[in-house]
Amino acid sequence: MNGELTVGERLVRGNPGEQIFAFAAKIYPICRSITGDGVRKTLRAIRSHIDLDIHEVPTGTEVFDWVVPPEWNVREAYIRDQRGRKIVDFADSNLHVMSYSIPVHRWISLAELKQHVYTLPDQPDLTPYRTSYYAENWAFCMPHRLLESLSDRRYEVVIDSDLSSGSLSYGEYLHKGETDEEFLLSAHICHPSLANDNCSGVALLTHLAKCMAGLRTRYSYRFLFAPGTIGAITWLARNEDQVKHIKHGLVVSMVGDGGGPTYKKSRRGDAEIDRVLAHILRHCGLKPTILDFSPYGYDERQYCSPGFNLPVGLFQRSQFGQIPQYHTSADNLDLIAPDHLAKSYRIIAETIDILENDIVYRNTNPKCEPQLGRRGLYGAIGGDKDAAGANMAMLWILNLSDGRNSLFDIAERADLPFALVRKTAQLLHRNGLLARCDDEKPSTT
Ligand code: ZN
Repeated sequence: MNGELTVGERLVRGNPGEQIFAFAAKIYPICRSITGDGVRKTLRAIRSHIDLDIHEVPTGTEVFDWVVPPEWNVREAYIRDQRGRKIVDFADSNLHVMSYSIPVHRWISLAELKQHVYTLPDQPDLTPYRTSYYAENWAFCMPHRLLESLSDRRYEVVIDSDLSSGSLSYGEYLHKGETDEEFLLSAHICHPSLANDNCSGVALLTHLAKCMAGLRTRYSYRFLFAPGTIGAITWLARNEDQVKHIKHGLVVSMVGDGGGPTYKKSRRGDAEIDRVLAHILRHCGLKPTILDFSPYGYDERQYCSPGFNLPVGLFQRSQFGQIPQYHTSADNLDLIAPDHLAKSYRIIAETIDILENDIVYRNTNPKCEPQLGRRGLYGAIGGDKDAAGANMAMLWILNLSDGRNSLFDIAERADLPFALVRKTAQLLHRNGLLARCDDEKPSTT
């Protein structure tokens, strides 16, 4: 009904689900950790789509109460039996080596091997994902059934890794808007071959940044691709003066499965981002879960630490730790699908659309209701099915547009989808029944 597309409508053009899936599949095989060449390779892959700044922070750099750790790289790793057969091989799956394993090469008994093997007895065919970033150790991960099948012989264990002075790598991309108020979008890039956690989030944000390039927006959008915990801490330590610009933020992880959607509120609990996500999920047609903030999860823990207390929530499909595939070899490309990625992407695009278009109007005819029938406005929007909703939207907008309520405030109070409220307000505006307020937020269409 209006020729101009909004920012949110422009973002969802094309075939986002297929493109996000293709990029997630491309970075899935890479062996990532909190540092090392796998992270750099992933960042370079992102940079092939967007103008990403890649930062390197040297080992030993103090970042608040933490220190950037040595850089970890692994070339090969395997367990071999006395006949020379490889029992597990890093070349087959990078999950077979515990992340940050120190180098080892020796022959050991089965009993000793078992001290250095992680399995999932309840899911005997899956390989777990394990890390030991800050305690020196080495270990392999494998299916429980495979471990059980090993005979009481000696085994050669080889992990050709090194932990040495290097750097922590993270990537940052800023889309500049009309104001320096920022929307932070953050994804962790430290997990190896796990598709949902978090190739999905990295790929979704890469696609979003790519689609946003060239669009005029009110907000500036900062995309951060950093290793979990230590990466967010490092970024915050280096950008302490900048965070005052962050008005909204989302950590994005596990967005490719068919569960949820799940939104975990910021520590503030009533930030605009919290209200907007709750609104969208209520109207998304799926079975959403809204969680209160807790100091456990992903990098919202750092952004919402009391010294920052930023308005940053966590968006996911299934909640972390709540699906059997979580942190196992079953979090592979079969777990994620273009349709789910597209739906997650649309929810984030809709979030942006609301924040970009949240205008305050004033009713130009506030004394009693204006006569809508005379202007042909009853049933003017959509088909008959939608007419009732549109009529309700008209009445709510006219009643609440007193210069104090924004369109989003009205959508929340009327419990109507924001897009319907926005389109209806445009119609009323064109008919002279609404005027944009002096203190209005600039339009982006
Ligand atoms: Zn994880």
